[in-house]
Order: sequence, then C-alpha cells, then structure tokens
Amino acid sequence: MNLHSGYARRTLRLALWAAILAASSASTAHSQAAVAYTIDLASSEQHLVDVQIILPPGAAQRELQLPVWNALYQVRDFAQYVNWVHAKDRSGKPVFLHELNTSRWKIEGAQGGAIVEYQIYVDSPGPFGAQLNPHHAFLNLAQILMYPVDARSAPLSVRFSRIPEGWHIATPLALTPGGEFTAANYDRLVDSPVEIGNFEESDFDESGGHFRVIVDAEPADYDMAKIVAALQKIVAAAISWMNDRPFDTYTFIYHFPHGQAGGGMEHAFSTAIELNAEAIKQSLYPLTSVTAHEFFHLWNVKRIRPQTLEPVDYTRENYTRALWFSEGVTSTAEETIQIRAGLLDEKRYFDGLGQEITELERRPAHLTQSAEESSLDAWLEGNGYYRRPERSISYYNKGELLGMILDLSVREASHGHASLREVLQWMNENYAKKGRFFNDSEGVREAAEAVTHADLTSFFSKYVAGTEEIPWDDFFRPVGLRVQAITNTMPDAGFIASRNFDGPMSVAAVTPGSDAEHSGLQVGDTVVELQGKTAGQESRQELDRLKPGDTLIVKVRSRRGVERELKWKIGSRQEISYEVKDLDEVTAGQRACRVAWLKGEAQK
Ligand SMILES: [Zn+2]
Repeated sequence: MNLHSGYARRTLRLALWAAILAASSASTAHSQAAVAYTIDLASSEQHLVDVQIILPPGAAQRELQLPVWNALYQVRDFAQYVNWVHAKDRSGKPVFLHELNTSRWKIEGAQGGAIVEYQIYVDSPGPFGAQLNPHHAFLNLAQILMYPVDARSAPLSVRFSRIPEGWHIATPLALTPGGEFTAANYDRLVDSPVEIGNFEESDFDESGGHFRVIVDAEPADYDMAKIVAALQKIVAAAISWMNDRPFDTYTFIYHFPHGQAGGGMEHAFSTAIELNAEAIKQSLYPLTSVTAHEFFHLWNVKRIRPQTLEPVDYTRENYTRALWFSEGVTSTAEETIQIRAGLLDEKRYFDGLGQEITELERRPAHLTQSAEESSLDAWLEGNGYYRRPERSISYYNKGELLGMILDLSVREASHGHASLREVLQWMNENYAKKGRFFNDSEGVREAAEAVTHADLTSFFSKYVAGTEEIPWDDFFRPVGLRVQAITNTMPDAGFIASRNFDGPMSVAAVTPGSDAEHSGLQVGDTVVELQGKTAGQESRQELDRLKPGDTLIVKVRSRRGVERELKWKIGSRQEISYEVKDLDEVTAGQRACRVAWLKGEAQK
C-alpha cells in the first residue's frame, strides 16, 4: 500500500472555499453521519492551520474539547494556540458558541448539524508535537483537533486541503478512494501521526508484515538501505520474541534534524522518531535502540495496557503507577531485541547495565521515591526542581532495571522454565488479546506468578512499591555476574543543569560552597552559552571534557531576564560508579543460564 497519492489542490481563498463547502458539499464531501474534519495547510509560512469540523445532526447542545495533553505525560494546554473559534449551522447561519473553560466550548442550536471552524498556531517540533512550516507538516492530531464530547467514540474522517505543491502524506490512517483518511474513533485518530512533505519512503516486508519507512531529512545525512536493513532485523527479532504480529502494516516516521532532537513516540501502528543528524552519522546505535524501544511499545503500553491509562482523559492527568513497567520494561525488552537482532553485544550490554545501576544508585531519591511513585509523578517532570536527584528517580531507569531483575527472579522461581518473555507473552494473551487492561503492578505480579507458580509478593513490595536497596549481587549470581563499585575523582562544575524535553537548559541545583555558587550562579538561571557556544544538546559533552582546574565560562539569564557572564574553576569530587563484572569463577551452569538470559529465552 502506498499513500503517496497526490491531492487535488484547491487554490480558492479560504473564505470562498469555506462558503462553498458549507453551502453545497457539506454532506457529500465526507462520509454521512461521521464527524468530518478538514485541515487546511495553506498558511505554512505563518504556522497557522485552519480546522473545520462538520458535526452531523444530533443534540441541540454540543460540547467540543481540545485535549490538554497527548503523547507526553505532561499537561501542555494545546488551547493556548487557538486564535479564534466560530460556529454556524449547515446553512451558514451563526449559532451560539460559548467558551466553558480554556479547552472546552459549547454550541447551541446544532440539532441539524453544525460547522465549527477555528485557527490554531502549530509550531512545536518533535515526535510529540505538531508543526507546520514551509518545509513540512508533522501533526500530532490531538494537539490540533477538538472532539465532540458526546461522539468521541464515533467514526470520523479527516481531509487535508490546500497542501503545498509537491508534498505527500504519510500516516497509518486508512485512506478512502475519495481522498479522506478515516478512523473508527477519536482515540484511534490521535494515535496516528501524520507527516506531510517531501519525504523519502522505502517499504519492506518481514515476518508476514508490511513496513513503511518514511524519512524526512537531508539525503546526505542518512543511508536508507542501512536503516532498512537494521529495521528488518529489529522487527524480525521482536515479532519472534513475542510470537505475535498484531498488525498488517506498520509505519516508521523519522526526522534527522541538525540540532535538538526529541526522541521517539510510540503508536499502535506506527512510531515517530527524531534523532540528531550528526549522531546517526557516527553510529546507527541511537537509531536502533530508540526504534527497538518504540516498536516494542506496540505491545507494551499500546496493547498490553494498564487500566489506569484507560479511558484516556484528555481534560486532565491520567494517573498511573505502571510506567515503570510500560516504559521501563519496554527499555528492558529494547535491549533483548537488539541482542537477538545482533545489534548489541554482551560487553556493550553490560556496560549499559552498569551505567543504569550507577544512575539509580547516585540519586538519593532511590531511597525515598518508589518506582510506582515515580510513575504517578511523571506529570511533574516538566519542573526543574522535580528532576533533582534528591527529589526523583526515573521510571525509565529503575523500570528497566526492575525488568531485568524480574527476569532473573522469574528464572530462579521457575527453575529456568520461564523468563520475562513468558511474562510478557502471558500478558499479551490474557490481557491484550482478550481486550482487558491490566491492574498496574498487581497485573504484572499476576502474570509473573502465573508463569512461575511462585509467590512474588516480596519482590513487588520491596522493589516496585517500596524503596529497598536492590541486592544486585544476589540477582546476578545465577548468571555468574556481580556489581563492582568503583570510586573515581571526577571534575565537578558545581551545578546541575537539566532540560525539559526540547526546552532551554536551566540550572536545577548549585552545590553549596562551590566556586559556581561563589561566582553568583543561581537555581533557575537559564544557561545561554557554555564556553562561548550556544547551550544545547552538546553542552553535556562540553562539560564532560573539562578537568579539575579548568576555567568554565558560562553566560546565563536570570529569571528576571538579566544576562550575565560568570567564570569559575572546575573543582573535583569523589564519585562512585558501578560496573557489571564476571564472578571470579563462573561455573558451566552459570554460563548456560547467562546465555539463555541474554537471548531472552527460558533455559528449559
Ligand atoms: Zn517509551
């Protein structure tokens, strides 16, 4: 299937076009009785999208909601970008429209159907965003499309109009012969990213599925054949590991910008991934690891789904204790898939594990915030203070490690007859395929106990719901490994800076008594320049190159907007890091257990 079909381009001015649509073609342009959206892309220079929603006849009073969040677990109030909203009946006569709150509108007199129009500014880059510019459009539809509150589960259609010359459309949504994209309901619609522009596409078939690879980037920055070869290995490894392929067609959408890049976003039938162009030129590893992660999400979180994320509440936070599993264990699976695909070797995997353990152990909050609490608190991640090491841990980080030690525990408890793979397959069969959602950590425990026939209460209460120190060596012994702590003297800049997604780098903590503090650096300052270079993604590496005694020159902007240049000498501190090592003597039994573990398979 190829959705590159060209669209009849309309050259009429918007007002004329809207009038014609309202007067004559409102009921014929779209499927009868479905909510029909038209998204006008004519104002790409201004990043303005004109949206028209045709509501079929129904209740006289209707409410329309624009989501406050989607994709990221973060309230982003998309309504801040809505310039204006108008409503009229199907004959073009204005109907009463009334704003109920920042993101909800009510219309009256809509019994014969209604036409709602609004204009929205769309310029947030990245796989979680919506952006229209003269280069392309990438749309997270939840960010731009209101839904009728009484018809969120009704079928709907979307038509794109006045698409700039030469642009094509790529989306997992179904395309009708009439040129409309359709979805069974609003949730399905907004789980479908849309790329419109001049991208390159390369498709392949693997393990019975059809795969579309869409790349919107500078042709010199990537090698499509290499990407496709890696993707083929990843999807084959994941499908065989899960022994399941719950789709016919799956779409990968990639962007490789120079500069900041946002990572990946999972969907049920697709993923959108953004990676820095320089990074993927050096190695395809960042691409394969994010891709394996997002691809595995098609099971874990999209289909093996916690009850607490359903139904999605677009008006406020959906609180869940399960992100340690839905995100973290997806990262565990990402490593296994890469090992099975031949894209990650044992040494690199153990190095990575050491880094994950180091990250968790260095955060004082690992003794005060559980993996479940970190999941609940995901909605606070936009705040600099929250990200401080004494305040929070990452559910990705601890969750990935929990996935690994859960795997080892399941192997022990089942005497080698089961592994994390069986737990995930059990959840796929007993929750996903039966249309059930799982009861957060309890649901994971139910699955792990079903495949081991053992009581795992203590594991879940200590390490998932609790904050007990993880006895790494006890978990690693059966595979002949141990964790070694190594103390190093490290350069210390005297402050911690963090970035919220694609936002600026801000100072989250200043070490008391440090030269950084004496120079006047304050929490909340925005780092504008570091060593004369604009602060960005590369600033971390810039800092890592400095040694004790080197001079750091930083331009910062205070909360009040005052810029100043600060200089101080890099200090030093003792830092413990952890490495995963062989035991002094590794038995044949431990070796055999390790081989099965690394492959992600039960030993017996
Ligand atoms: Zn993820």
